[in-house]
Amino acid sequence: KLSRRLECVASYIPKESTLADIGSDHAYLPCYCVKQGIASFAVAGEVVKGPYLSALSHVKELDLEKQIQVRQGDGLEVISQGEVDCITIAGMGGSLITSILENGKEKLPGVKRLILQPNVGSIHIRKWCQKNNWEIIAEQILEEDGKIYEVIVADYVLKHPEKLSAPELLMGPFLIREKSNVFQQKWNAEVKQWKSILQKLNEASETKELEEKKNELKTKIAYVEEVLS
Ligand code: SAM
Repeated sequence: KLSRRLECVASYIPKESTLADIGSDHAYLPCYCVKQGIASFAVAGEVVKGPYLSALSHVKELDLEKQIQVRQGDGLEVISQGEVDCITIAGMGGSLITSILENGKEKLPGVKRLILQPNVGSIHIRKWCQKNNWEIIAEQILEEDGKIYEVIVADYVLKHPEKLSAPELLMGPFLIREKSNVFQQKWNAEVKQWKSILQKLNEASETKELEEKKNELKTKIAYVEEVLS
């Protein structure tokens, strides 16, 4: 059985997709998608040998070798351009997900949908999407086993997507509108942490760098408090 987190990712994969799941670990997601008939073909990419081998054996165990190819490599280097129309990258930090997309940019023409599941740092993903003509069409936030996860779904668009405001880049345009309990819980905890950092910085001696850091924190706190109020 798939985790709720990965089930949420899978729910945004269009039917009959050709899928690449990058950083697939055990290849749970591609196996589920192929078995459910969501994807007709999938590539499971893994850079690390251990997870690559476990993906291979899981795919073999389920007898899915015809529909799922497990490939070892860094990020999008495991696919060729035009091979898949949907890419999932889940369970990593937002900056790592963003660097995988940025480094593999030449593989993206032909891809219609990205489903990205950052554990932290989703702002990097939203900024990258905005800059590279990927329009965020849905977002989810969920809690599982005491951790909070975000899912960002983006479709390729020809013209620049509508510009997101600074609070939207930080917290997510759809998530801000929905303002779910989990969302409030996450951002209340962030603000609490930022305030305690700010207090410590206030006790330290003044430098220009420190001043900038403090201003950055104050700005973020103001954005979040405005959204939550
Ligand atoms: N996607 C699965 C999930 O959401 O449950 C696995 C998440 S696991 C925490 C992250 C995986 O990404 C690890 O197996 C790691 O080896 C892999 N990974 C990290 N950087 C990668 C990269 N640049 N290219 C491919 N895989 C990568």
